[in-house]
This record gives sequence, C-alpha cells and structure tokens, in this order.
Amino acid sequence: MIFVLKPGHTEQDLQHLIDRITEVGLTPHVSRGEERTIVGAIGDERKLIDLPVETLPGIEKVVPILKPYKVVSRDFKKEDSIVKIGSVPIGGRKIQVIAGPCAVEGIDILREIAGEVKALGATVLRGGAFKPRTSPYSFQGLGEEGLKYLAAVREETGLPVVTELMNIRHTDLVDKYADAVQIGARNMQNFDLLKEVGKLKKPIILKRGMSATILELLMSAEYIASEGNTDIILCERGIRTFETETRNTLDINAVPVLKGLTHLPIVVDPSHATGRWELVTPTALAGIAAGADGILVEVHTDPEKAVSDGNQSLKPKKFAEMMERVRKVAEAVGRTA
Ligand code: PEP
Ligand code: MN
Repeated sequence: MIFVLKPGHTEQDLQHLIDRITEVGLTPHVSRGEERTIVGAIGDERKLIDLPVETLPGIEKVVPILKPYKVVSRDFKKEDSIVKIGSVPIGGRKIQVIAGPCAVEGIDILREIAGEVKALGATVLRGGAFKPRTSPYSFQGLGEEGLKYLAAVREETGLPVVTELMNIRHTDLVDKYADAVQIGARNMQNFDLLKEVGKLKKPIILKRGMSATILELLMSAEYIASEGNTDIILCERGIRTFETETRNTLDINAVPVLKGLTHLPIVVDPSHATGRWELVTPTALAGIAAGADGILVEVHTDPEKAVSDGNQSLKPKKFAEMMERVRKVAEAVGRTA
C-alpha cells in the first residue's frame, strides 16, 4: 500500500503513519520528493484491512497494491483450476453443460428431463429443491423430498447433481444428497452461509449477485476459500441494469475479466441472465466465445406447466439445437463440448 501525504503535512503526521504501519507488522519505506512525501507499507497489506487508513492525519491518498482477495486470485495460483462435480471436470478443455429444470417438481418429470438432457450431451443435472422465490406465495420447492428425487435420478442416469442451498440449517441435508452445492445470486453475500459451505468437502457453484460487482463476487469466493474449500465454480448469471427487455443483463465482460483475476472456473447461466428462452442460445454461445468453462441452463419438457421459470426454459428440441451450436463455437475457440 502506498500513502501519499498532503503538502504541508507535519513531521508528527509522518511519524504517526510510520508507527501505525509498524504496529500492524509491515515495514514503512519513506520517500521524500520535492513536492510530496510518499510512504510505502512493505509486506502483506491485507494486515491494514481494518485500519481506516484514510482518516490518518496528513494523508491525501492511499493506493492499494495488492488485491483484497488472495487464495482465489491469479497471483496466488497461475494455472487454471479444474473443479470436479462427481467425475465431471469443470475448467478443462471441454465445455460442460449443466442442465435441468429450475425446480425439482416430481420424480417422473425430473427423470424425463434428465433423460433428455443426458442424451443430448449435458454432463451434470441441475434442479432446485429449495427455491428463492420473490413471492412467499409461489412454490417454494419440495425440500428433502426433492433432494431424494435428485439422488434417485443420479443413480439412474449417472449424472451428478447440483442443487441450491439457501439456509445454513439445511447444509448437512443438501451435502448428503448433492454432488455440488449452489449458492444463489440472492445469497452471494450471505457471509455466514459462505463460511459454512467453506467447510464442506464438496464443490460450490457461487452465483454472482444481481447487484454485485466482480470484486464483490471474488470476495465472496474468498470467504469460501478462506475456510478451506477451494473447489469453487463462479457463475455469471446476469446483473440488474436499466434495461427492461430482459430479466437481467448478461455481463459478458465478466467472463474475460474474471479469467484474468482468478484461477477458478467460470460458467455462464443464460437462462436467468435473459429470462426468455429464445435468448438463451445466443447468450450461451456468447459466454463460451468469451471463455466460459461451461453453461448452466434451464430445460423443461413442458415449460408451460413448469412451476417456476417456464419462460426461460428450453424444450429438449431447442436444447438439442443449442448443443449443436455450442459444439461449433467451442471448437472455434479451441475447446470441445
Ligand atoms: C437458479 O439457478 O435456479 C436460481 C434461482 O438462480 P439465481 O440465484 O441466479 O437467481
Ligand atoms: Mn430458475
């Protein structure tokens, strides 16, 4: 961290700053220029994280050098991480497609959808048993019953399953049945929940909050990693903008930006990003072209009757068309699908 002192600062201000830097275990390095005095704090500047450095007397500007996240950063680990869901590697050369209904609605319909997506090339099954709904009167999910259906369909199809955990209370339950735990957009900054899943020995799909910056997403990933679980897959699922034509706006920039900042794999969710099934394929393709490692997509055999997110769910036929185009784009960017 670099501190630029105000012109006219006193020697006392300078000494005070040096003392504070030393107190937290960093080494101050003073450089006196003609117009400005600059002090560098040498060492891990995260030690200054809780210090309100800008309030110190005589300070004009504070310039951080290191990123506030560590374990998830590219500086910490240069090579791309590969995170396995069951035996499916996310982050390798192959683009993985995680597909399934928004919510687990029943065993028969789940089995039917799973069979379709598997036959068409999906390698992981998704489905929510605990649903974060805007209205308390909307379907809230089947809970443990839904988790049991997911586990049963995994046994039948061999597809590993991903499902959302909303509440710390259900951590053991979700851990018991799922192959990967999804933290939804609305819980991206539920820090207690993040710490809890940081203790699991299971991959976490961390979805970007709809109003969260890329830095905030990475800080949330750091929460999980700081508890020991570095098996994290980031998910760009669209952010809130002024645009109302679509449910959210897919932040395609986030994919290459994240690739530069972190070693963690990244998937794109074109379903929640757009909210409209006809926009799912083009945005999925854009995600892959931009460097995403996978797609998380909602598929339903009868979207009209879906209990949630039917508007954005692809029918198997449309999913098949998407897969065909996903393979072509993957190949064009040096990947497979
Ligand atoms: C979901 O994946 O079903 C979901 C609720 O997504 P998000 O948390 O991104 O809204
Ligand atoms: Mn959904």
